[in-house]
Amino acid sequence: MTAFSTLNSLPAAQIENLNELGYLTMTPVQAAALPAILAGKDVRVQAKTGSGKTAAFGLGLLQHIDASRFQTQSLVLCPTRELADQVANELRRLARFMPNIKVLTICGGQPFGAQRDSLQHAPHIIVATPGRLLDHLQKTTVTLENLQTLVMDEADRMLDMGFSDAIDEIIRFAPATRQTLLFSATWPEAIAAISGRVQRNPETIEIDTVD
Ligand code: ADP
Ligand code: MG
Repeated sequence: MTAFSTLNSLPAAQIENLNELGYLTMTPVQAAALPAILAGKDVRVQAKTGSGKTAAFGLGLLQHIDASRFQTQSLVLCPTRELADQVANELRRLARFMPNIKVLTICGGQPFGAQRDSLQHAPHIIVATPGRLLDHLQKTTVTLENLQTLVMDEADRMLDMGFSDAIDEIIRFAPATRQTLLFSATWPEAIAAISGRVQRNPETIEIDTVD
């Protein structure tokens, strides 16, 4: 059991926030992945549901956010609206000590016009399902040109839902110099292939892979 305070690059205010959330020690996935993630490396993680993957990427992407720049600096892709809402809520909890961080979910099945209006003030973090986000990119109602961190959460489920092409298209709108983090409960060949297309020298972490 390792305390979050052993991670030197986490600010003291974040350690305090984590303690308030009841996060006293890192889960095995967090202990294995956070050193590489906080060092800015590309990381691919295979770990089962409930292992604390959201905080693993959330603590990583938050450290790259400059709240004074009103630009989208992080993007998290999720397979469903339900998961996107869960991730967005967890990111808001992790960012409680950072004033004015804006997290926006962009998912299908919701009115496009209202999303376009919300996007006029660029959120620091977008949590999205791939199809609708691609729609906004193609209509230039969103830009990823200032993106620092791209996360693919539940990548195997996104591929199962047929989002592979949309993800490849989205990547074309993102800068080449970015950190890309990939999370999946299972590791079929298609996941290895997408990692090869979108990540650079990724560190591989496998924890508790029996789902
Ligand atoms: P996964 O994405 O791997 O399925 P989640 O990120 O949803 O897992 O986390 C599962 C649960 O564990 C959540 O309720 C979250 O609040 C909790 N959790 C995450 N990290 C910690 C931690 N270090 N200490 C205590 N609880 C944690
Ligand atoms: Mg998760």
